Amino acid sequence: MRFYSTRNKALRVSLRDAVIQGLAPDNGLFMPETIPTLPSDFFEKMHSLSFQEIAFTVAARLLGDDVPHPVLKRIVHHTINFDAPLVQVEEDIYALELFHGPTLAFKDFGARFMSQLLGFFASEEKREITILVATSGDTGSAVANGFFGVPGTRVIVLYPSGKVSDVQEKQFTTLGKNITAIEIDGTFDDCQRLVKTAFMDSELKQRLFLTSANSINIARLIPQSFYYFYAWSRVNQQGKDVVFSVPSGNFGNLTAGLLAKQMGLPVKKFIAATNINDVVPKYLTKGVFEPTSSQQTISNAMDVGNPSNFDRMLELYGETMKGEISGYSFTDEQTRSAIRRVYESSDYVLDPHGAIGYLGLKKYLSLHQHVVGVFLETAHPGKFIDVVEETLGRKIDLPPALQAFMKGEKKSIRMSKDFIELKNYLQSIS
Ligand SMILES: *Cc1c(COP(=O)(O)O)cnc(C)c1O
Repeated sequence: MRFYSTRNKALRVSLRDAVIQGLAPDNGLFMPETIPTLPSDFFEKMHSLSFQEIAFTVAARLLGDDVPHPVLKRIVHHTINFDAPLVQVEEDIYALELFHGPTLAFKDFGARFMSQLLGFFASEEKREITILVATSGDTGSAVANGFFGVPGTRVIVLYPSGKVSDVQEKQFTTLGKNITAIEIDGTFDDCQRLVKTAFMDSELKQRLFLTSANSINIARLIPQSFYYFYAWSRVNQQGKDVVFSVPSGNFGNLTAGLLAKQMGLPVKKFIAATNINDVVPKYLTKGVFEPTSSQQTISNAMDVGNPSNFDRMLELYGETMKGEISGYSFTDEQTRSAIRRVYESSDYVLDPHGAIGYLGLKKYLSLHQHVVGVFLETAHPGKFIDVVEETLGRKIDLPPALQAFMKGEKKSIRMSKDFIELKNYLQSIS
């Protein structure tokens, strides 16, 4: 499989180069040059296969020419060494719990797959690889934990000061070793811009072997398509059309769903569920894409004003994406009342992001019949314990993995949003 840049269809690179470069030299996003479909008998027997077996089949179809099958199998099994249970919350409504990995959020899938794949490609490299990543919360912890202690790699996490939860912050500021956290006086968009600028800087590129691990890296995106196949195979048994509601920020997760559909997965509709950072829902209804600066909400991992995967969505579906995706946005107040309502009626604790996925699905189901819906529960409610406890008026249990992080001591380097400060720092460590 070769990959092209969304800014230049003529540019083609190998999987290895796409993963190591992260972003194309022209600042475009890498996309597979063809999207292979899976044979129909795979869809027929999928319900009897394990999640790992399904994931390996999908991965081999996409990447089987680039990575030897035994290596790919090992990578898949290492990535998915935890459950992704489907929990029925209401009639025709299922939560796909993607938070049973080490950092209790769905980004573990992408980060673990990418760190393994990069480890495979990097084994022949002489220089240390520096992974530069901007985070609004969960990316940082998933990437830091995915690469923690991996020889030949160093991770630098940029995050907006005061705009991530305590628990999230602890997960990437307490590790030490090959993980460094940089606290930026600015927004997530500033962090993302700083990372993009660093990749464009020719001096830095010469001195450091830089790569990214944001959702823009194609190795983060691909494994996120696996769980759509898995979830579909489990609920499709009911003979109804299947829809997925995806709580979205940078839209990597939803783009991975679109990729699964293009590989042949018969999903009826995707629901782009957002908080008030609603540029994509607005595009879907009004037809104009107008990025803005992000606004802070209680579902802060989705506070994105200029979603980086939008160009990939355009590549996959162009204007016809309006027929594939319904977009809805919700306020913090609606999010809190959903958390309360679902706890009271179903005894199920939503996190603020999953709550938005749930709300999107409810909205869609109120307008359509004979449909079974899956919303992606992207984080454990304990990761947003302040919001959830305050909303429910009761204590919730913090999982042991999180308790351990909370005991660690935060270490970070504080910087302004001026690129020169970051550049000086990166040059000082090279
Ligand atoms: C990152 C994140 C999202 C948004 O995912 P995108 O792929 O950026 O759309 C949603 N929920 C949680 C908990 C996240 O960490």
